[in-house]
Amino acid sequence: MDGSRPKPTRLIALMNQKGGVGKTTTTVTLAAAYARAGRSTLVVDLDPQAHATLHLGVDPAAIEASVYDVLLDPASGLEGRVHSIAPNLDLLPAQTDLAAAEVEIAQAPDRNRRLSDALAAASGKYEFVLFDCPPSLGLLTLNGLVAAREVIIPMQAHFLALQGVGKLLETVRLVTQTVNPKLRVTGVVLCMHDTSSTHTQEVVADLEAFLAEQRTLDVPWKHARVLRPAIRRNIKLAECPSFGQTIFDYAPTAPGAADYKALAEGMLREWDAMLERRAETKPETKPESRPGSGPVTQPEAGTQATGDAPVEIVTRAGEIAPVSSGTAV
Ligand code: ADP
Ligand code: MG
Repeated sequence: MDGSRPKPTRLIALMNQKGGVGKTTTTVTLAAAYARAGRSTLVVDLDPQAHATLHLGVDPAAIEASVYDVLLDPASGLEGRVHSIAPNLDLLPAQTDLAAAEVEIAQAPDRNRRLSDALAAASGKYEFVLFDCPPSLGLLTLNGLVAAREVIIPMQAHFLALQGVGKLLETVRLVTQTVNPKLRVTGVVLCMHDTSSTHTQEVVADLEAFLAEQRTLDVPWKHARVLRPAIRRNIKLAECPSFGQTIFDYAPTAPGAADYKALAEGMLREWDAMLERRAETKPETKPESRPGSGPVTQPEAGTQATGDAPVEIVTRAGEIAPVSSGTAV
């Protein structure tokens, strides 16, 4: 890859309407791993709980501007609102007042795309932008899904979590049918994973079988897969946020650091290989650098999502976890 050519931006929403599944940990730790690999990365904290902000060592009570200001006044872009955390790692922080933004912009015609518009002003600055979504399907998550091109689903491999994934995919489909046709699901990250449990193994097998079946369908998760390695349960990952440090600073030799590093490295290898192929096959095509216009990892990113049937994940036991349409979007 020619280093002088601007790289496109990958815009990834870490999303799961369930809380406590590993969204924030995955956002912050993947972002830190990308940054340490020399990739310019921005974390956008979209959760009023401000966990990503705290995890990256920023006190939400002590900051002057946050993603709240961006949503209220997107025309001013990111200027003066982004914090530099480490080399190649920036943060657009959250404060608790973020919850009010949902109400304050609820009537605005551009309420869904305010974040997307503000990011457009930072064109080409970042190779990765990761959105840490709140555990709900409201306007904050929707702003993340409109600004993003990809969804990564952090989840724990439990039976009930599969049902949650069905609902989540319905939401993504709704978004692709309305406000962001280019959004695609890249995959699932298995968090707090326990490989020794039979139940866990069965749930992962069910999930993989479900995703394999979807390859022939014209849905936004057609190319979604279980991303490897799974992230093992590791107490060091639970400890490091209270020190405002990522696992790479807090406990660099812990299994949690090794798992996230391997996950990030695998994703970067695939991404670089994809850019390489693209450069070889289309030498005349310059990658666009505007956030929101870069390619995603799935080659069929232009296909339209079709069909409104509920997403059903058939489990090993033969039960069906049907999910009805209709979300807060
Ligand atoms: P979410 O953002 O989905 O609510 P978090 O990333 O905040 O989830 O994770 C929920 C809790 O689990 C946090 O206390 C976090 O530190 C902890 N945690 C996350 N991943 C792991 C892991 N692999 N091992 C142990 N604890 C973890
Ligand atoms: Mg969180």
